[in-house]
Amino acid sequence: MTHQAADYDIDRFAVLRERMVEEQLRRRGIHDPRVIQAMLEIPRHEFVDASHRDLAYCDMPLSIGFGQTISQPFTVAFMCQEAQIKPEDKVLEVGTGSGYGACVLGKLAREVHTVERIPELAKQAERRIRKLGFSNVHVHLANGSLGYAAEAPYDAIIVTASAAKLPEPYADQLASGGRIIIPIGSHYDQSLYRFTRRNGKELFVEDLGGFLFVPLIGEKGWQERTDESQLRPGR
Ligand code: SAM
Repeated sequence: MTHQAADYDIDRFAVLRERMVEEQLRRRGIHDPRVIQAMLEIPRHEFVDASHRDLAYCDMPLSIGFGQTISQPFTVAFMCQEAQIKPEDKVLEVGTGSGYGACVLGKLAREVHTVERIPELAKQAERRIRKLGFSNVHVHLANGSLGYAAEAPYDAIIVTASAAKLPEPYADQLASGGRIIIPIGSHYDQSLYRFTRRNGKELFVEDLGGFLFVPLIGEKGWQERTDESQLRPGR
């Protein structure tokens, strides 16, 4: 009986995932077949609290505790698509959160390094990533506003928290031809940008449109404040 209930749950979530991909992704311009396939395969309901499982495939971000969120499915897919990730790429994700985005990236890239500043989230994400069998996704507890120099250079850097400007370590850690996807702006008004390293040196910048993210905390992001209305840019 329990076994049947579990089977039913697996099928139910697969159906919800297909609907999510059709209605929230394909219809809104996600067309990269590798991104679509990754979004169909990763069980998003495994990355949220049991009490949120039924909402896991809804068109919205969800709380993961500690004032943080798992991004909306469209946002995850859009960032991955715009990062133009190739199977041989080495990728840095700043802001592991639940670990969901890292696993989507793990399907797309050769090697993924993901950095989280909140120890409990990093630990929980690590457990989920191992449970799903990803050996190419590595979680690091660190201040990602400085990037992650130990594993640089990266072909793509995806930043899932917003900064007032591009932290310069990201540019330093980007390979030739590499792409950085990052939300930049004030606390309540941000755009997603793509910076592309051309000719081995200069960065070409494109505005990909408006999004809203939690703040990137750290010396190259925002100073931490208990009252978020007091957020100030870091150095
Ligand atoms: N990619 C995540 C997922 O799939 O669940 C969503 C990440 S959430 C929108 C942003 C994350 O960035 C939060 O978990 C937050 O703790 C983290 N963060 C903020 N500042 C950071 C920093 N300086 N270094 C590392 N992580 C940071």
